[in-house]
Amino acid sequence: MTVYLVGAGPGDADLLTVRAARLLGDADVVVRDRLIDESVVGFVNPEAEIVYVGKTPGGSSTQEAINELLVAYGQRHDTVVRLKGGDPFVFGRGGEELIALHEAGVACDVVPGLSSALSGPLAAGIPVTHRGLSRGVTIVSARGAHGDVTNFRMLANAELSLVILMGVEQRGVISDQLIEGGLSEETPVAVVEQAWTGQQRTTRGRLKDLGSFDVRPPAVIVVGAVASLDLRSLSILDVAMI
Ligand code: SAH
Repeated sequence: MTVYLVGAGPGDADLLTVRAARLLGDADVVVRDRLIDESVVGFVNPEAEIVYVGKTPGGSSTQEAINELLVAYGQRHDTVVRLKGGDPFVFGRGGEELIALHEAGVACDVVPGLSSALSGPLAAGIPVTHRGLSRGVTIVSARGAHGDVTNFRMLANAELSLVILMGVEQRGVISDQLIEGGLSEETPVAVVEQAWTGQQRTTRGRLKDLGSFDVRPPAVIVVGAVASLDLRSLSILDVAMI
C-alpha cells in the first residue's frame, strides 16, 4: 500500500517519465490536479478510480482536505497515484502531502516530472542559461504562502534569467519592481502560455511593456537576455547574431 506523488510534466503525455506511465497503468486510484493535460489520462489503468481535486485559486478542495483524502485512499488501496502538474516538488505542495502521509504512517514515494519552470521556456526555444547571456536561473513564484506578492526588487540581476510561475496576474507589479530594482526597461521578456499543450502561445517584448501583455494563466514569464532567443526556429542569419 503506497501513495506515489507523481509529476505529470507540463502537458503532452509523451513528456511523462517511463516510471510515471508505469505507475498510472498500475494505479487503483488516481487523485489528479486541475493542470493535467487530458492526454495523460490515456495512460491511466481503465479500472482505476479517478478522483478530481481541482484546486482553483481561492476555490474548492483545500490542501487539508486533499491530505486527508490521500491518507484515506492510502490506507485502503495498493497503489494510489497522486498526479501533479510539472514536478511535484516545484510549487506543487508535494512536500506538504508527503509530510501528511508520513505522519499518518502511510507509505509514500515521489516521482519527478518535467517542471514548467524549465520546460516552459524551452517550449518557446528559450534556453534558461546560455554562455555569455545568462550565468544561471532564478525560479520564483509571484506569490507567497499567504497570498503576499514576492519582492521583485531584490531579484533584479541582469546576469541571471528569471523564471516566474503564477505571475500573470501580477505582471504589472513584477515589471515595475524589477525596473525599480535596477533592470533595464528594455530587458527582453517572454510569456509562454500552456506550454506543451495544443494551446501553447508565446508573447515576447520588453520589460517595460509586460504589464500590458494580453496573456492568461497558466503561463511562465521569462525575464532576461535569453528571452529574446527562439532556438527552436532559428535561421542561419539569427545564429550569426547571437
Ligand atoms: N509543479 C508545477 C508548478 C505548479 S504551480 C511545475 O513544476 O510545473 C502552477 C504554475 O505553473 C502555473 O501558474 C504556471 O505558472 C506554471 N505552469 C504549469 N503548467 C504550465 C504550462 N503547461 N505552461 C506554462 N506554465 C505552466
